[in-house]
Amino acid sequence: MLKLDLSERSEAFRASLRDWLAKNPPPPAPVETSLEEFQRVGRAWQAQLASGRWIGTHWPEAFGGRGLTLVEEAIVQEELVRVAAPQVLGLFGLTMVGPVLISHGSDEQRKRFLPRILTGDELWCQGFSEPGAGSDLAAVRARAVPVEGGYRLSGQKIWTSFAHIADWCFVLCRTADSPKKHEGLSYLLVDMKSQGITTRPLRQASGDREFNEVFFDDVFVASDNLVGQPGDGWKIAISTLMFERVVLTFSRQLQSEVALNGLLREHGGTVAGSDAIELAQAVTSACATRALAYSHLLSYAKGKAPGPEGSMDKLLWSESFQRLCKLAVSLRGVSAALGEEHGEAAHDVHRYLYSRGRTIAAGTSEIQRSIIAERVLGLPRLRHEKA
Ligand SMILES: Cc1cc2nc3c(=O)[nH]c(=O)nc-3n(C[C@H](O)[C@H](O)[C@H](O)COP(=O)(O)OP(=O)(O)OC[C@H]3O[C@@H](n4cnc5c(N)ncnc54)[C@H](O)[C@@H]3O)c2cc1C
Repeated sequence: MLKLDLSERSEAFRASLRDWLAKNPPPPAPVETSLEEFQRVGRAWQAQLASGRWIGTHWPEAFGGRGLTLVEEAIVQEELVRVAAPQVLGLFGLTMVGPVLISHGSDEQRKRFLPRILTGDELWCQGFSEPGAGSDLAAVRARAVPVEGGYRLSGQKIWTSFAHIADWCFVLCRTADSPKKHEGLSYLLVDMKSQGITTRPLRQASGDREFNEVFFDDVFVASDNLVGQPGDGWKIAISTLMFERVVLTFSRQLQSEVALNGLLREHGGTVAGSDAIELAQAVTSACATRALAYSHLLSYAKGKAPGPEGSMDKLLWSESFQRLCKLAVSLRGVSAALGEEHGEAAHDVHRYLYSRGRTIAAGTSEIQRSIIAERVLGLPRLRHEKA
């Protein structure tokens, strides 16, 4: 693993976490298991971490965190990977809606939601994408009509990960018509137990049933559950995505380092030819991705808000993760290709299929490249002339 020199305070924090982990070891991470088992383990592990205050360490103390920086949060992720801990279940709450409520929510919303996000007692899902609004997110058509005391929400969301087990959904929807599609959008917190919500699971190539279609049919949402002001939805949605591309990506890229270490242990001394070159490329790409992510986290620790540079982290990580998963299947040979029922080969095939979605979720590679070109490098926007 790449090792960076961090401040004494950060290294002392790492030592105290190591100490805690030695006394409170994680359960084994589920491999090739049912979604139910994944949920059970992830929920229990999040509660255990929260009991030691190792969740949301970069959140302000007033909201249950420790008031540390994203660098310490990255150290938590590194240490959890080192001990091969299972993934916590409440990632959407921890990495997206939690930070959004801290920066844009009302005091009542923070008080109501943040403690249960930290413990994982309430799970969240992200209701952004629709059949006609993915890359072009501002085209959302789900509509919330103002009524006495709140809104009536109707419309369809799609690819909503974990909607079938979530308690709450943060929804981007239209509350007013406007000639500019980025305007008139609002950000609502919707109780998934409300009357009028139907959730239908969708099966992925990997066989998982992690995401869903969600239908809202005249669902009442109290005005207390509007984040910010009506019409603030686009600004808040973008800040949600910035957090998603930075913090969530950091923990995912560490997961790919675990996969890489496994490959090096198993094949490092024996590969030759093009496989050896690909393995070497996987190592350099993991180091570069991590160094870049750290340089961004260090700038956030100095007070900069996450911005479009998170697209670089997401693009580099998701594409190198795909190459790594493909290499793992190729090195495993026929047994992996056949996807044997049990064991490491089946795990490699499952991870390879899962990795295909990573260059789509949280914005496709094409969209990340455009963001980098226009908003990081300042290149002119391409416009297609009509013939
Ligand atoms: C595993 C997974 C989990 C997901 N979880 C969630 C979730 O929990 N909540 C949620 O709201 N969404 C979720 N999504 C949806 C995801 O955000 C969208 O799939 C993604 O934004 C792409 O939108 P789309 O599928 O509508 O594709 P489209 O936007 O229709 O894109 C189709 C193709 O056209 C390309 N394209 C589109 N526009 C442009 C452009 N301007 N320039 C260049 N190329 C372009 C795209 O790159 C892509 O290759 C998830 C997706 C996946 C794969």
